[in-house]
Order: sequence, then C-alpha cells, then structure tokens
Amino acid sequence: MQYKMENPVVGKNGIERYQCKITWRNGTFIADEPVKSGGKDLGPDPYTLLLSSLASCTMITLRMYIERKGWTVPEIMVKANLWQEKKEEITKTIIDRDITFPGAELDTKQKDRLMEIAQNCPISKILEGDIKVRSFVHHDEPVEQTIKYANDDITVLWKPSFCKHAARCVTQLPSVFDIKAKPWTNAYGAPSDMIIEQVQRCPTGALSYIKNHE
Ligand code: SF4
Repeated sequence: MQYKMENPVVGKNGIERYQCKITWRNGTFIADEPVKSGGKDLGPDPYTLLLSSLASCTMITLRMYIERKGWTVPEIMVKANLWQEKKEEITKTIIDRDITFPGAELDTKQKDRLMEIAQNCPISKILEGDIKVRSFVHHDEPVEQTIKYANDDITVLWKPSFCKHAARCVTQLPSVFDIKAKPWTNAYGAPSDMIIEQVQRCPTGALSYIKNHE
C-alpha cells in the first residue's frame, strides 16, 4: 500500500472557534465555519473544500486534455453544489457539477467528449468509487505490556493493546513487520532510519522506538 500523497494533509485546531490550520505541500490555509454556525468565516468550510476539490480537479483535467488537443478554450468554469436526502436512516448525497466554456467555440461532439473527460477526473473517480474512511486515535498513555525488538541502534517498542492491525506497518515495511513471522517484528529487516520512519507512521501509538545508545 502506497499513499497517493507523499506527506499527509495535517490539520490543527486549537480552542479558537472553529479555525483549523491546514498544512499542505507548499504552505498553510485556514478552514473555518460560517458565522451562523459559530465560526468566523476566515476560510472555506468543509463542504466548500470538498466541492472545491472536485471543481479544481475537473478544471485541471479538462485543461490538460484541451492543451493536448490544441483547442482554443479561454476559460473553463465549474459550479459545484450538493444536496442530500435521507431515506430510512441512509443519507444519499448528490453532487451537481455544471461545466461551461465561456468564449470557446466548441461543437457538440467536443463538448460531449469534455463531459466524458470531466466524469473521469481523479476526484470524480474517488467520489463515485468504493470509498472508506478509516480513523485511528493515537495513544501515548503508558500500558503494562510493551514488547521490545532491538537491533544494534534502536529498540522498537510495541504495545499490543493499542495495535489495531490495520497493517500499515505490515504493508509498508514487510521486511520488518510480518504478522506471519515469529517474532512478527524483525528489527534487522531494514536500516534503522527506515524503521524509525515507519514506526512514526503508526496511527495508534502501538509502535514507538528508543535509541540504544543515548
Ligand atoms: S501500524 Fe501500528 S496499529 Fe497498524 S499494525 Fe502496525 S503497529 Fe499495529
């Protein structure tokens, strides 16, 4: 399993209602709630961010295709909104995406093709595909049982009670973490810096490490 993004999107929220500082690859921005929901409207709300993701992906994908085709399209405009209906405890969400090409001379065939391209943009595929959100809470409280796996430089500490076996470590560094092996962690299976990097990705706090010579 390889994540799509080299680094995760990181959000931090303090007690200031409801500002969330979002750190992305090249900077930060604020997400907030509108005043009517108790925020200060200092940045886009989560629904706006979701729709912006679809709108921007649509435009970028279309622009790439248009450039490849050499068509003259001075502007692409996307309007996105969503509505929801609840039936028997199941909430259905419908996103409407309206696409226009102001000032472009495109015939029906070209517009139909652009519609197909838009429907296949990566974010459309995510939203319309099989999508699941997995959530983990990070623990750092002490527990009784901690199992240690050492190599010459570091000792990997594993707290089984926190391990959810979501298998992030197993899929990302199988030469070290292998649930079929005994013991399941081989601290000699990769260079120590790679092991440290993987340990730091454990979402539950089940894995941590100490340096042996400090
Ligand atoms: S990443 Fe952490 S929680 Fe997931 S399987 Fe490995 S040790 Fe367990």
